[in-house]
Amino acid sequence: MWSRSLAPLLTLSLLALPACAATPEAKASASEPSQSAPAPSYARAALTQQERFNIWKSEFIARAAMKGYDKAMVERLILPAKIEERALERDKTQPEFSKPIWSYVDNAANASRLNGGRSKLAENSATFDAIEARYKVPRHILTSIWGLETAYGKIMGDYYPVNALATFAFEGRRTKFGENQLYALLDLLQSGAVRQDQLISSWAGAMGMTQFIPATFRDYAVDFDRDGNKDLWTNEADALGSAAHYLARHGWRWGEPVMAEVAVDSGFDYSLIEGSKKSVNEWTALGVRPIGGQRWSTDAGFLEAKLIAPGGHRGPKLLTFKNFDVIKKYNNSTSYAMGITVLAEALRGKSVISTDWPRSDKPLSFENKKAMQRKLNQLGFNVGGVDGVVGSGTRKGIRAWQKSRGFPADGYMEQTLFAQLMAQR
Ligand code: CA
Repeated sequence: MWSRSLAPLLTLSLLALPACAATPEAKASASEPSQSAPAPSYARAALTQQERFNIWKSEFIARAAMKGYDKAMVERLILPAKIEERALERDKTQPEFSKPIWSYVDNAANASRLNGGRSKLAENSATFDAIEARYKVPRHILTSIWGLETAYGKIMGDYYPVNALATFAFEGRRTKFGENQLYALLDLLQSGAVRQDQLISSWAGAMGMTQFIPATFRDYAVDFDRDGNKDLWTNEADALGSAAHYLARHGWRWGEPVMAEVAVDSGFDYSLIEGSKKSVNEWTALGVRPIGGQRWSTDAGFLEAKLIAPGGHRGPKLLTFKNFDVIKKYNNSTSYAMGITVLAEALRGKSVISTDWPRSDKPLSFENKKAMQRKLNQLGFNVGGVDGVVGSGTRKGIRAWQKSRGFPADGYMEQTLFAQLMAQR
């Protein structure tokens, strides 16, 4: 789910690894023996890249054969593989400035995606009836995933996944990912679920209208129209049914909300942001209420939710429920889950966020973020390693510093506050 028109949007600080609908690496293959691979003999030698790649191929083929894959099939697939330079380039690209979350969320529900989604909902209504009946996952969420992943099947990547994944498996920082996904691809082909000539992917190996990486494809794709082929590339029923199956297996709760915008009482303790889940009743007792003077429905009180404010205390504040976490199993990113929800609600004619974002804020550059982490460490707010990636640990440190200065402890940093932090002795 990585190479597509949305790719520039995916360079957000809140985004994690490019593994859409990712099967966790740990459960890659049940048949995998626990022995470790032999030390790569090509790594030390002064060989050309092509020579090293050829040695990797023969070693991979041997490893796959030892795992029980049909050696002739592995050879047919791996021997013609080519190094995919474009995939390496994409993997290396590190944006200087990450976009603010609102640019991602706004773009998720832009006019073209909204209009496209409305047409797709109408065109596929019978398919959606059948999918909802079987998997209990709502059509607006599925349509939204389809729209954000591939612009409804228009942008599915133009890579051959064997080349892209072999390139990653060969050398670099994604060798384990690449090798595991190649095994998953072998499983897929061996099962007959897909044909080799169908294989087209993003640069990171994600396939079809819902961008399943091979392990996810193997474990969760369904042949919804029962024609004998799991066609996530051209068959809407298979693609949407597979996405529904994935979300259902990860715990989607039919009829429950994904997220709800809230207002908080003055003097609210912002350090509760990103903290533990609490029931809606507990949040109410802490001064959190629905936006715009609305009331919670009577059965909402016991639902568990987390409070987030990705644009800080001046931006929208949201309670996120179990279904929000399920969307993050598809792509482990708060921005993504918010984008999916905002588009899905817009497709239902509803607006889920009414408070505007602090749009005039200037985001931190990658170097700024490293400087911030160094400074927080110096000041005794331990945020661990200085990597320029602002995760929950860094935000925890920001909150502690904000609290010490009497600022709202929302864990949110922009240039004005950054200047105050850096000026502190
Ligand atoms: Ca099918």
